[in-house]
Order: sequence, then C-alpha cells, then structure tokens
Amino acid sequence: MLQIKTDVVIVGAGLAGIYTALNIDSTKRIDIVVKESLVIANSNLAQGGIAGELDFIQENIDLHIEDTLKAGSYLNNKEAVSVLVTEASENIKKLIAYNIDFDRDKNGDILLTKEGGHSTRRILHSGGDATGKDIMNALIIECFERKNIHIHENMMALELLYKDFACFGVSCLDKSNKSIQFIAKNTILATGGIGNIYGSTTNSDIATSDGIGMAHRAGVKLENLEFVQFHPTAFHSEITKSRIKFLISEAVRGEGAYLLNSEGERFMSKYSPLLELAPRDKVSQAIYREMYDTWTDHVYLDTTHLDEKFLKKRFPTIYNRLKLDNITMGKNLIPVSPVQHFNIGGIKVDLNGLTNMKNLYANGECASNGVHGANRLASNSLLECIVFGNRIATDINRKTSENIEFKNNIEQYKTYQYNYKPIKRKLGTIMDEYVGIVRTEVGLLFAKKQAVDIEKNLIKYPNNSKPYYEALNMVQTANIIINSSLNRKESIGCHYRIN
Ligand SMILES: Cc1cc2nc3c(=O)[nH]c(=O)nc-3n(C[C@H](O)[C@H](O)[C@H](O)COP(=O)(O)OP(=O)(O)OC[C@H]3O[C@@H](n4cnc5c(N)ncnc54)[C@H](O)[C@@H]3O)c2cc1C
Repeated sequence: MLQIKTDVVIVGAGLAGIYTALNIDSTKRIDIVVKESLVIANSNLAQGGIAGELDFIQENIDLHIEDTLKAGSYLNNKEAVSVLVTEASENIKKLIAYNIDFDRDKNGDILLTKEGGHSTRRILHSGGDATGKDIMNALIIECFERKNIHIHENMMALELLYKDFACFGVSCLDKSNKSIQFIAKNTILATGGIGNIYGSTTNSDIATSDGIGMAHRAGVKLENLEFVQFHPTAFHSEITKSRIKFLISEAVRGEGAYLLNSEGERFMSKYSPLLELAPRDKVSQAIYREMYDTWTDHVYLDTTHLDEKFLKKRFPTIYNRLKLDNITMGKNLIPVSPVQHFNIGGIKVDLNGLTNMKNLYANGECASNGVHGANRLASNSLLECIVFGNRIATDINRKTSENIEFKNNIEQYKTYQYNYKPIKRKLGTIMDEYVGIVRTEVGLLFAKKQAVDIEKNLIKYPNNSKPYYEALNMVQTANIIINSSLNRKESIGCHYRIN
C-alpha cells in the first residue's frame, strides 16, 4: 500500500483546515486531504459574516463575551469564549493581510452588521453576502503559493491510524478506490458539519460527519452532540424541492426584516423582547410553534418596508437566488422555515485544539472547544475556525516531533458498488421527525431503535467505499446525538425537550 510520510496531515479544506495550514511553519510538510473538490464546503457558503472586535476596547470585548455566553445559555466554556473574543482581532487582521476585501464605506472604513443575539454591530462581511466564498478564494490562492502545502482532492479519509492511543495519520481512498496512508507526526480533523444526517439542511453535500465518526471509532472523546442548531430562515422554495436548503442570512433580519406568520401577523414579541434578533434557538422554536398553531410548514420573512436597491446591493447572492423563484426582495414576502444548520458539539478539544489522543487535533465545526455552549451566536463559527486554527498551528510549531514508523493496523475490506442513498434518506426522515427542534422521550426512543438497526446492518456488511463510510459516519453520529438527547432531560439552548 502507498504510504506518504508527512509532518502534518489535515483532513478537510474548509476554513478550519486551510487557515490552520497557512499558520504552520513553512519548514514543515503539510498534506491536506479533501474528499471532493476544494470549493464544496460549508465555509464557501457562509453569507452573514465573521464576528469580531478589531479594536481592543474592553467594553466591546466584554459585550461580545457576554452575547456569546447569553446565546449559549451560559453552558459555554468561559475560558474558550474569552480566547475566541480576545484573539479575534489579530486573526481577522491576518485575513485582511491575505487580501480579503471586507466591505467598506465611502471613507474606506470596514462596514459592520448585526445578527441575532449581537448587541452591537461587530460582523464583517464581504461581497455583501458572499463572505465565505471570498475568504476561501483568497486563502486557497495563498495555499497554492506555498511549496510545503500539498492538496489532494477527491481523497476520502476513512479511519485514523493509531497505536497505544497516539495518532499516526489517516487511511484514505482515492477516486479510483486505491488505498493510501498518510503517516503523520500530527493529524488535524477539520471535516466540518453533520447536516446530511437530517432530511433537510443548509449544509453542503460533504457534511456527513466523517471526522466525528472516525474519532468515535478510535475511542476519542466527544461531547455535547445533542446541541444541533436549526437556522430559523432557510428558504422554503415552492419550485426547487431540494433537500439542501438555500439560506436567507440572519443579517437580513439584522438590517430590519420582520417575521410574519401565515396570518400575516408579526409574532416574535410573544417569544422574546429581542424580537427578530433573538438568538437562533429562540427564533427557531418560536417559528416551530407558529407553524404548529397555524397548520403550515413555513412562515414569512418580510422585507417589503426596506429599500429594494439597498437590499440588492447588500445581499446580491440572496437577491438573485430569490429572483429565480420570482420573489423580489423589498417587494414580496419570502417563505422560510427552520432546518438543520450547525453542529455545536463534536470532538472534545482543549484550548490548543488537541483531543485526548496524542498528536490528534480537531478544528472547526467537527470540534468542540466549548465556545458555543448550548447554542451558537451567529457568525462566531468562522471566527472559531481561525482563532483555534492559529492556536493549533502555534502548538505544532513549538513541538519537536521525532520521526515515526507505522505499520498498517487497518483491516482491508472488499469494495462493492452498493447504493446507500435509501439508508441515508431513511435516517434523514427519522432525524427530522424525532430529533429535530422539539424532542420527546418517546420519539427519541423510537428514533434510537431504528438508527441502531441501521448501524448494526452497516457494520455487519463492511465495504471499502466512500458512500459506505459516509453512511457509517452519519448513522454512528446520529446514534450519539440521540443518546445525548435522551440523557439531557432538561430543555436548554437548542436542545428543547417537551417531555
Ligand atoms: C449556508 C451556511 C451559511 C453560513 N453562514 C455563516 C456565517 O455567515 N458566519 C459564520 O460564522 N458561520 C456561518 N456558517 C457556518 C460556517 O460556515 C461553518 O461552521 C464553517 O465554515 C465550518 O468550517 P469547517 O472548515 O469546519 O468545515 P467545512 O467548511 O464544511 O469544510 C469541511 C472540509 O472537510 C472535507 N472533508 C469532510 N470529510 C472528509 C473526509 N472523510 N475526507 C476528506 N475530506 C473530508 C470537506 O471536503 C471540506 O473540505 C454557515 C454555514 C452554512 C451551511
């Protein structure tokens, strides 16, 4: 079997993986494995922006910390939140130095917006609502200029390689199903979200929880997986019935849009004094209640009192997408409903992104450092990717790692061309129905029975293929979410139990 020896292997080329790579010393060889093409990642979809105080004004820093804790129902790791907020400025300034053109006013000052749960305007954005795409384009160009960084597209990581609870890299499959091992002094999981476990999600196709699955099978500690964030305003298109829902950024509400129920009534005052800018958990739960009470599957986002020209300039991606459904921002109501959006828990890491397995790090949406508590504050996740990516890089830069040898301990299975789509669809239906915004013990137990059966069946018939491992990662993560949801009896943040 082909083995590639390297200093660092990074699984994933979203913001969490790429930014970490750029901050590791250029004397180290870095291999980045990406299961599809570089442009398919949640990072590229981010619209709203990246939160962060650029100037160190204590009062503003304290407010960002307080907003993050409040959104997370104070279940956050306070130290991690303090790191996130105080190290925002140096890392965002690095992004600016990589030629990311954040939107500016006529005087050249950076424009800042507001989203749910933020008490001040502190969110930087680019291309109006194309923040993720603009950041990723600039960083990927930078990566290609670095001689020490080797990017392998269409390379699916399957399992961690480890011995005596120390990590030695990952085993992978390339496009033609050839096995390749990356033997590394340091391994970083940056595999992104879990969205496709659910029937409907805002996440990209690649979000199948692979890092969490791999970590789980290797016995690495996970935490807080019951906290799944549902975005309140995914576009409820009557024309495109895709599972992957187009997001209407919270920044649209930040710029003044209202929520109306099917009767045309503005309803958020019944649920929160912060109205449409309450944290996401509160807004999603309020919409769920309104839909339930009015027997409908969506509510509306109302921008008709806002200027169409301003909306078109401020939100070009959203404006143009809605036009395809003959909806004009500023003129027509926009049908929206909550869908799965963000994974709060994940692979447990310390403040340097290190897991409990030696030489194994995790960053971004697959990691859990405790910054989000029970519910993530909008636009804190891109920030998390860069702040903790920088910390991982610093930790690796100061280590002197000895050369390593590693012999294969991974069982090789045969490859079958099985179709796992029906299993994935079934899992999505179970998760939407019983492990969604509102959860009950009876529903969770019902979901558990079915998801355990699917997992047993997959384990019984192993298959050396990308679709197999994705299905396995998805169902194993689903079972962990279900069990954590059963264990947490109280409602808190985005985990809402009615009995
Ligand atoms: C529609 C949308 C809008 C958002 N808007 C915002 C916003 O405005 N502000 C904000 O802060 N956050 C936002 N978020 C959240 C934020 O974008 C993500 O949390 C963040 O980008 C995650 O980055 P990541 O690098 O961890 O994962 P990703 O960007 O998803 O990257 C994951 C990478 O891992 C690779 N990968 C996965 N599994 C494997 C495997 N087995 N082998 C090899 N490679 C693998 C993928 O190919 C991909 O390259 C948004 C999310 C979505 C979906």
